[in-house]
Amino acid sequence: MSDFDYDLFVIGAGSGGVRAARTAAATGARVAVAEDRYLGGTCVNVGCVPKKLYSYAAHFHDAFRDGRGFGWQLPAAPEFDWATLRDNKVHEIKRLNEIYGRLLESAGVRLINGRARVADAHRVEVAGESITAAKILVAVGGWPWIPDFPGRELAVTSNEVFDLAQLPRRFLALGGGYIAVEFASIFNGLGSESHLVYRGELFLRGFDREVREFTREQMAAKGVRLHFETNVERIDKVEGGLRVTLTNGEALEVDAVLAATGRRPHVEGLGLDALGVELNGDGSVKVNERFETSVPSILALGDVTGGPELTPVALAEAMHLVQQHFADAQPAPLDYRNIATAVFCHPNIGTVGLSEEQARKQHGAIRVYRTDFRPLKHTLSGSEERCLMKLIVADDSDVVVGAHMVGEEAGELIQGIAIAVRAGLTKADFDATVGIHPTAAEEFVTMRTLSRR
Ligand code: NDP
Repeated sequence: MSDFDYDLFVIGAGSGGVRAARTAAATGARVAVAEDRYLGGTCVNVGCVPKKLYSYAAHFHDAFRDGRGFGWQLPAAPEFDWATLRDNKVHEIKRLNEIYGRLLESAGVRLINGRARVADAHRVEVAGESITAAKILVAVGGWPWIPDFPGRELAVTSNEVFDLAQLPRRFLALGGGYIAVEFASIFNGLGSESHLVYRGELFLRGFDREVREFTREQMAAKGVRLHFETNVERIDKVEGGLRVTLTNGEALEVDAVLAATGRRPHVEGLGLDALGVELNGDGSVKVNERFETSVPSILALGDVTGGPELTPVALAEAMHLVQQHFADAQPAPLDYRNIATAVFCHPNIGTVGLSEEQARKQHGAIRVYRTDFRPLKHTLSGSEERCLMKLIVADDSDVVVGAHMVGEEAGELIQGIAIAVRAGLTKADFDATVGIHPTAAEEFVTMRTLSRR
């Protein structure tokens, strides 16, 4: 046992911090965690969890309409009550916060309420206490960032959007990343007039081009108003709402603007600069494969390190970190390739591996198998919604290097496909797999016709 008060002091009780604290404690380490906001971090409180709940709420819109073709008659047009969704969400998150608290408590981890500051390589100051630790873990995550324009203070971020006092009758999402497309879809589904404003020619930069184009068509067909190649110039308060002036000269009147223009590492006031902890060019904390910063007793993981900003990545990093620093194991470095991800726009996107464009660059000769079709359900529902599925194969090895889907429950489906892609299975393996009928998923094992090279 060391002379320090704790073996590990974790700053931030988000997904990564809590997982690291609990698993380190399970190895016998003495662990404390400081958190100044809510247990569970962004994901539980103002991210993945409430977002998925709101996405479910928005999907009922389609379900009510689709039901008619199957014989369901609704006595009256269904009405959506924002306050019910919001308040039920609040109760559920409170329940999850309590579970996180109990998990830490039962693991023997001390929880301290306050924003910690790193005073030196082994000392943290928090809530009036000065505490020493053999290792300090910075797991403070990120924080929404809004660009500078007149009226920026009139926009909300993902920190506030879940708790708006009322459902905005007209909604605008600024940005072309995950959060903008998800919320443009959610508010559209909830019945708002929904706009998305993105500075580039097509949203979701970095995703497969065909996936982006297909998503554009599907979202537009559902009623989301897409404004590309323009940006917000200013926001002004006007009678009954907000006037958003765009750089292309257009003006839109809405009730709420969500700035979904990216997140920044939440390192302000932590004291890392004074200690000379090295940062990356984007302000994130630089770490090695053992999650050590340039001050080796100070570790960091999750969004603050600038890697993929995804909860499962932070969780995997936490497990890895604990193995390396507290379980005396020497695991191979974490493999960041083939991390599957879903975007919960409507319809959903699920993706793993390389986009067609990346595969062409990395592998040269590739084969693309793709299909888009009207799912069986929509033969009776009357909905025009279509589904896209796509496999990208390295021609020389036959290995499937990318799988993409836009359609209902794409995230659920791609998770399984991700195992095959990570395992390096070939197109011949996919072809040899007998499908499940009738599902949309069976298309992934029945795409025999080459679409292009
Ligand atoms: P992203 O980084 O994904 O997207 C930010 C968007 O804002 C980009 O389209 C970017 O444009 C645009 N932007 C940046 N600066 C400006 C500016 N000055 N003016 C106008 N537009 C600007 O961030 P998000 O906020 O959407 O999400 C943060 C992260 O959270 C995501 O990257 C993701 O990792 C994670 N997340 C994951 C989810 C999931 O797994 N389903 C859901 C939600 C979030 P450009 O493309 O041109 O740079």
